[in-house]
Amino acid sequence: MLKITPYLGIIVLIVSIGGIFYPKLGYFLLLVFASLMIIAPFRGRWFCGNLCPRGSFADFWLAPISRKVKIPPIFRSMWIRAPIFVALMGFMVFRILQTQGIVDKVGMVFVTMCILTTSVSILFGIAIAPRAWCSFCPMGTLQRAMGGSKYQLKVNRDLCIDCGKCQKVCPMQLPVNEILEKPDCIKCARCVEACPKEALSF
Ligand code: SF4
Ligand code: SF4
Ligand code: SF4
Repeated sequence: MLKITPYLGIIVLIVSIGGIFYPKLGYFLLLVFASLMIIAPFRGRWFCGNLCPRGSFADFWLAPISRKVKIPPIFRSMWIRAPIFVALMGFMVFRILQTQGIVDKVGMVFVTMCILTTSVSILFGIAIAPRAWCSFCPMGTLQRAMGGSKYQLKVNRDLCIDCGKCQKVCPMQLPVNEILEKPDCIKCARCVEACPKEALSF
């Protein structure tokens, strides 16, 4: 996690609420798309754990009011994620085609997408876990597809004492200390910081 990560969540509110009155704020989403597309081939979902405003919003705004129960495994299933990706991206392209390229109308499509997805993420964030939405978010799925095997967390099983501290802090609820590929790891490094035996590293 970067030093600025905790402060990025406010951008979600600025775009979602401010965008209703000033639709050009919606173009901020293009910056998000571009950033994660550049980073994902080299670091997988690193953007999600370090630079995504909604991820920061989940971790620092939703976490205090979240029930923090187990994220249903079905949320991570590609049988759910792929259709959600196609549906949301298709819906967005369809709406953009209807705008005839009018700048404010295109901006409002992005703002609407932001409001829609933020509403769902808040709902699941409170009812289940802060990062429940991030388990099936189309942008997370895209980053996983582009670089899920890159920049993997390394586990030194010789040092690990199975204390479970890493699992407790993992916002994605992953099996942190198991030696297996974790394509949905968001590279936040909270587990690395929490480990008392320095058994984890990138
Ligand atoms: S999964 Fe989506 S909302 Fe969550 S941090 Fe990644 S890009 Fe942001
Ligand atoms: S925190 Fe470190 S020692 Fe504890 S279970 Fe995780 S990897 Fe093992
Ligand atoms: S495994 Fe570690 S780095 Fe990856 S998401 Fe969980 S806490 Fe963050």
